[in-house]
Amino acid sequence: MSRSPSLTVDLHMHTTISDGRLAPSELVDLIAATGLDYFSIADHDTLGMYLQHGEMLERFGRRAISGVEVSTFAQGRELHILGYGVPIGPATLDGVLTDRKSVRRERAVQIVTKLQEQGVRISMDDVVRQTGGGMIGRPHIARALVESGAARDISDAFERHIGSSCAAFVPSSTLTPAEAIAAINACGGVSVLAHPTRNAAEELLDSLVDAGLRGIEVWSTSHLPHDAARLRTKARERNLVMTAGTDFHGPTEANPRPGTSVDAEDLQGFLDLVLR
Ligand SMILES: [Zn+2]
Ligand SMILES: [Zn+2]
Repeated sequence: MSRSPSLTVDLHMHTTISDGRLAPSELVDLIAATGLDYFSIADHDTLGMYLQHGEMLERFGRRAISGVEVSTFAQGRELHILGYGVPIGPATLDGVLTDRKSVRRERAVQIVTKLQEQGVRISMDDVVRQTGGGMIGRPHIARALVESGAARDISDAFERHIGSSCAAFVPSSTLTPAEAIAAINACGGVSVLAHPTRNAAEELLDSLVDAGLRGIEVWSTSHLPHDAARLRTKARERNLVMTAGTDFHGPTEANPRPGTSVDAEDLQGFLDLVLR
């Protein structure tokens, strides 16, 4: 079997503008040191990286692909839709991204209130201290729970306190995936289903394709190798482009750097759409 050359890419990374642990400049320095062939910083519900720090990415030329990860909600579960190659401007994805910061803060307040009602000693101040001034997400609440001793570690915090099956869970969005997909496609972006195995998003794949979904994140650190093989088959059957990302939120022991290896041939469909 002949294999095409492999590329090192990471099309799914976060900064402190949403819930990542590295500031934009720190992440950009790490990307430069790592030497990725293509990458995208896709913060949750904001293009702040591009609107406020676009100049940091100029040196990467076409290796840097614009991106955003939009939170949506469908059939009782949270689904994340990535939008790539969107044009950068204050009105981009207006209505989908507008006011998300206040929506996310309001959601955190609701979760913290529910936790307090359950007797967990945690305050909004504890959570806000974890954010570094960026948008609030559940990882910040998880870190505050660990710091306060209410959870052993981040996964324990999600499992027992703030995961989607917990009493304190509040959905982050009333936006539907179809609305996010339509908005991303309408501005010329490429809509991609993020980490399809999470929250069984994969079950909804065909309805998302009907709504105009263009691609699927086949390689993700949330997947096992057999997941990627199955998702690759599904992508090919449905004529979807394939992407790869680690959902990098900062260095960890297992993943000190962003990036994953992918066959150039498998990424070509995506690159053709996004680098047009
Ligand atoms: Zn996500
Ligand atoms: Zn993500």
